[in-house]
Amino acid sequence: MARFIFITGGVVSSLGKGLASAALGALLQSRGFSVKFRKLDPYLNVDPGTMSPYQHGEVYVTDDGAETDLDLGHYERFTGVDLTQKANITAGRIYQQVLAKERRGAYNGGTVQVIPHVTDAIKDFTLDNVEDVDFILCEIGGTVGDIEGLPFFEAIRQLGHDLERNQAIFIHLTLLPYIPTAGELKTKPTQHSVKELRSIGIQPDILLCRSDREIPANEMRKIALFCNVREDSVIQALDVNSIYEVPLSYHAEGLDEAVLRAFDIKDAPEPNLSRWQEISEIVANPDGHVNITIVGKYVELEDAYKSLKEALMHGGISNQIKVNLNWINSVDVNRENVDELLSQTHAVLVPGGFGERGSEGKIEAVRYARLNKVPFFGICLGMQLAVVEAARNLAELDGAGSSEFGDPKHKLIGLMTEWTKDNEKVERKIESDLGGTLRLGAYNCIFDKDSKIAGIYGDTTISERHRHRYEVNINYKQQLEDVGLCFSGLSPDGLLPETIEYKDHPWFIGVQYHPELKSQIFKPHPLFVSFVAAAVDQSRLV
Ligand code: GLN
Repeated sequence: MARFIFITGGVVSSLGKGLASAALGALLQSRGFSVKFRKLDPYLNVDPGTMSPYQHGEVYVTDDGAETDLDLGHYERFTGVDLTQKANITAGRIYQQVLAKERRGAYNGGTVQVIPHVTDAIKDFTLDNVEDVDFILCEIGGTVGDIEGLPFFEAIRQLGHDLERNQAIFIHLTLLPYIPTAGELKTKPTQHSVKELRSIGIQPDILLCRSDREIPANEMRKIALFCNVREDSVIQALDVNSIYEVPLSYHAEGLDEAVLRAFDIKDAPEPNLSRWQEISEIVANPDGHVNITIVGKYVELEDAYKSLKEALMHGGISNQIKVNLNWINSVDVNRENVDELLSQTHAVLVPGGFGERGSEGKIEAVRYARLNKVPFFGICLGMQLAVVEAARNLAELDGAGSSEFGDPKHKLIGLMTEWTKDNEKVERKIESDLGGTLRLGAYNCIFDKDSKIAGIYGDTTISERHRHRYEVNINYKQQLEDVGLCFSGLSPDGLLPETIEYKDHPWFIGVQYHPELKSQIFKPHPLFVSFVAAAVDQSRLV
C-alpha cells in the first residue's frame, strides 16, 4: 500500500503548496519511487470550471476532460504523471455525492453529518486507486483555520490514524515574514499556525518554512522547539529565481531526506538529479533572450495563464534561450497604436479566453503579426479570432465574427450542437448549465501531411486537450483557403477545424486546443519549442 504525504499550508495563502508538492514528487521520483497526486479543495464550487480566472487562476484540464485546480498543472509539468478527475475534488463535489446518496436513501434513515459522512467521502476519494504506487502526495487547498477546510483536515487526521504506522506523514508549509523595522525574520506566525493545526489533532512531521532570506540557526531551533518538530525536519524554503530550481533547492535543504526519515525508510537509493541540474544550468546561463508579447485579457494575474507561461519557458529552455514575456491587455490595443505596441516584440501570442471584451484588440494584434510576418501563435480564442481576422481583412466578409459575441452577419465562429468522440455522438444543449456545454479534454486531430504543423509534431494524428464552447465554422473553409488561410488540421470526421496556418508566413499557427496543458519540463511541447525558435529567428531581424 502506498505511503501518504499530506501537505497543508498556514500563515497566508499562495505560499506555493502546489509547487512544493510537485517538487517533492520530483525528488521522490529521482530516487526511483513512483508518485501520485491528490488535491483536495475546500471551496463549494463543484469544480473550478465556472470560476473566473481572476478568482482562481487558470482552470487546468486533464485528458479525461476534468476541469481542475491549476496545481495539477504543476504536478504534471514536474513529474510527467498523468492526472485525471481522480486527482482533484472540491467540497462542492463531495457534498454533491453525499446529498445524492442521501436522496437515494443510501444512508438507511440515518442523520447525515459532516462527521462521519462527509469525512468518509473525503477519505474514500483519497484512498481510491492507490495500490500501485509508492507515495501519494495529497495537498489540502486553503490554509489551516479556514472554516470550510475543517472537514478536510479532520479527514486527513483520521487517515493518519487509520493507516498503519509509518504510512502517513504531515508536512506543513508556512511563512517567516521579514520585518524591516525589527531587522528580523519572525517565527510567531509559524508557531500560531502549527498550534492551530495541533488543535485539530494534526502534529506536523516536517515544516517547510518559506522565507526571502536565510533563516538563522537559532530561529530554526526555536521553531523546532515551539512546534514540537525535530530540528532536522524544519526545512527552509528560500525564494529562488525560477520554479525549476525548487527541487534542487529543497533537496539541498534536506526535504527528501526528512521525508524518508519520517517514514523510517533507510534503504532509499541516492537521488539522481542530473536532469534538474541541466535545466537549472540553462536557466542560469541562457544563450540570449527573446521578447514574446501575450495579448490577452487576464494579464494582471499571471496565474490566469499559468500553463501558457510555463510552456513558453519550456520552449525557451529547449532553445537555451530566456523568454521575456510582455503582457498587454487587449482592451488597450487598437489599429492606431498596435504598430507601436508590438514593434519591439519578436513574437505575438493570443491566448484562450472567454467573452467579447478586448476581442477587437486581439484581432488587431493578429493583423499586425500577419502583415508584418512576425511569428504568431493563436490558442483557442486566439485561433478563432485569427479566423475572423482573415475573413474580414482577406476574404472581405464584412461583419464576420463569433456568435459568442452576439449575432454576426457571417458566423465564422459558432456553436456546434453535436460532434463525434470515439465514434459516439456528443450532443451539446444550448440550454444546459454553463458547466455542461464545453468541449473538454482530449480529442484527436488529423493534420494535412504537407502542413507546417505536421512537420513540427512529426506526426499527422495527434491528441490534445480542449476547453471551449464555440467552433470555427467549417462552411467557410474553402473561402478562407482561397485567400491563403490553410485549415491544416481537422477533427477525424472532418467537421471541426482544429488548426490553421498561412503558408507564406514564417510562423503563423492557430490551434483550437490548448497545447500548453501538455507541455512539461522534460517533455516540452513541440509547438512551443518551434514558436520560440521562430521568435529567435525574428529577433535577428528586429
Ligand atoms: N471563448 C471561446 C469558446 O468558448 C474560446 C475558449 C478558449 O479560448 N478556451 O469557444
